[in-house]
Amino acid sequence: MKVTLEVGHGPYMDRDGSTGFEEGASGNGTTEYKEVTVMANITSRILRAQGYQVNVLDPTDLLEAMGSYAEDSDVFVSMHLNAFNGRTQGTEVLIHRNGTDEDYRFAGVLQDELVDTLRLNDRGVKRQGLAVLLGVPLSVRAACLTESYFIDAVNASTARRYTEMAAEAIAVGIDRYAASIGKQPAEAELSPSPSPSPSPSPKPKPTKTLSLVNVAKYYKGLPHQKAALEWLQDQASEQVMIEFTRRWRQQ
Ligand SMILES: [Zn+2]
Repeated sequence: MKVTLEVGHGPYMDRDGSTGFEEGASGNGTTEYKEVTVMANITSRILRAQGYQVNVLDPTDLLEAMGSYAEDSDVFVSMHLNAFNGRTQGTEVLIHRNGTDEDYRFAGVLQDELVDTLRLNDRGVKRQGLAVLLGVPLSVRAACLTESYFIDAVNASTARRYTEMAAEAIAVGIDRYAASIGKQPAEAELSPSPSPSPSPSPKPKPTKTLSLVNVAKYYKGLPHQKAALEWLQDQASEQVMIEFTRRWRQQ
């Protein structure tokens, strides 16, 4: 079972090739990007200890390399936090507007775990036309985006506590989902590797492929979807465009 976790926000590239950095939603003394970075690190540590293969999409990687991480994954989770008016609080998990039944089921498992753990308002699983999930490779069995809590409704220390709780809940949820499809790591994989030094995670093959993450990151700053599609047609490999337009046309 391979898991890809995407840290929301961070570095991005605009249509004209210029790059930037954004922190996502602002909390009270912390930011969405800071918190979801911690969250992804904790979730990946827990899952790896259980024998899962986990890719954390490192926003400092070359954007072009990112897509290749996700392509052979069973599940994909984009980690985000919500913000609204400083008072609203709750948990929701999003799937793409045209998400599959499997996306919905996976999102439901994560939502249940997050609500049970954080004990915040259950805002449910929602469908949205999310660019971040639009380009998910069809080879990924299930994909969703977690909005574990509202960062602007808590102080920094509560935010960090919620971040840690959410990270554990998401790990439990992924393990539960894996069990439901018969893909929990084998017993033999559970014991820590006896190798003296941890093997470095394999370098992703640089590829021109634009998939999930690339679409999301590149999408930022694009005026509207049509422009995004035209731009993608210039950039993307034929294979990815086939997948991309299939989903696009369903909207
Ligand atoms: Zn976000």
